[in-house]
Amino acid sequence: MPRFPYRVRPETAVLTSGFDPKLSVGAARPPVYRSSTYVFSSPEAAERAFEVVLGKVRAAEAEVPDLIYARLNHPNAEILEDQLVPLEREATAAAVFNSGMAAIFTVMLGFLERGRTLLYTQPLYGGTQHLIHHVLEPLGFAAHGVNAGDTAAIAAAIKANKELGLVLIETPANPTLTMTDLKAATDAVQRHPRRPLLAVDNTLLGPTFQHPLAIGVDLVIYSATKFLGGFSDLLAGAVLARDAGLIEHMRGLRALFGNILQADECWMLHSRLSTVGLRMNRQSKNAQRIAEHLVDHPQIKRIIYPTLFTDVEQIRIRDAQTDYPGSLLSLELAGGKRAAFDFLRALQIGRNAVSLGGVETLVCHPMTTTHSEFSEEELARSGITDAMVRISIGIEHWRDLLYDFKRALESG
Ligand SMILES: *Cc1c(COP(=O)(O)O)cnc(C)c1O
Repeated sequence: MPRFPYRVRPETAVLTSGFDPKLSVGAARPPVYRSSTYVFSSPEAAERAFEVVLGKVRAAEAEVPDLIYARLNHPNAEILEDQLVPLEREATAAAVFNSGMAAIFTVMLGFLERGRTLLYTQPLYGGTQHLIHHVLEPLGFAAHGVNAGDTAAIAAAIKANKELGLVLIETPANPTLTMTDLKAATDAVQRHPRRPLLAVDNTLLGPTFQHPLAIGVDLVIYSATKFLGGFSDLLAGAVLARDAGLIEHMRGLRALFGNILQADECWMLHSRLSTVGLRMNRQSKNAQRIAEHLVDHPQIKRIIYPTLFTDVEQIRIRDAQTDYPGSLLSLELAGGKRAAFDFLRALQIGRNAVSLGGVETLVCHPMTTTHSEFSEEELARSGITDAMVRISIGIEHWRDLLYDFKRALESG
């Protein structure tokens, strides 16, 4: 068959790449390969596969070494990684992990050398923050937090830190949606004499609305539990890069840590990925309509949503690096913590649960749940108050959600 004359677009590639029906008795969709080990085609092929996987020799162009053992690699992980690459602008390789935290931890241990420092934006996802304070720092790594969105302070911290090894940015930051300028951070790491790597947790707006690799970021990290999975029924993580060598390094660590994503979860993601753009677009439209309808509500002191930003610098970053506002919004209620709890109790469509990015609307109280490990100082610095609720909008009809929120606001 002649080759297709041009590189197809992401929506097409996600359905056509990574899987060849000829290798699976003609199945039109990828089957699930539940096998912990793989039968070698010959002893020579086994020897060759081990040489390649241990990095003793490089596989030749177009060579497909035999599979070995599912902790190292398996067909469903390979298919999923090939499907993820076209969704992330400028990615050439991906590695999948059994959770977002596994992906984050493998990036940290994989790229922070002894004696080097981690710089991270604050606030971070609660689990990531906890990992830094309770595992990374006790292991002897220095870690410094810098306020998300503070472009000048981040550039200055990168410049001033001579032993910097890795920069981790989460943008928008959860639950305040503070956006951090990725272009400025990229420029700062490129000017640094030791050229630290720059990683971005792109869970909140990627892969549909924000494209860090295209800006010059080195590594993009996902909790695929959220939008990529989309139905709040699996845990998964992924890392993508422009430089395939970085991903190869992570795969080597993944084989040792044993944190590759299992075949069944990969298989579920094979079909979920094809609708991630559809879901995220609908969720973002819903959220924007709801946020803009709630703006003047008397029970709401402040509403945090990208189209409602008032800070000039935040508006500049939003316009420069995001395509659409996304489906997260946070409300600060006029009646404080009691009003926030009453709101959660009164909801009938939105459910009081942590996590985000699913087709169903979820609402939580960050201060007492996802961010309960933050110190008073970290909470204050991040702008998280006891009157705040975070909402992840799903694909229900937005008018039903708006009615549910208004009813709950007025129930107190
Ligand atoms: C959920 C989340 C994580 C952690 O991912 P898990 O899949 O739960 O391990 C990391 N970062 C962000 C921004 C998240 O929302």
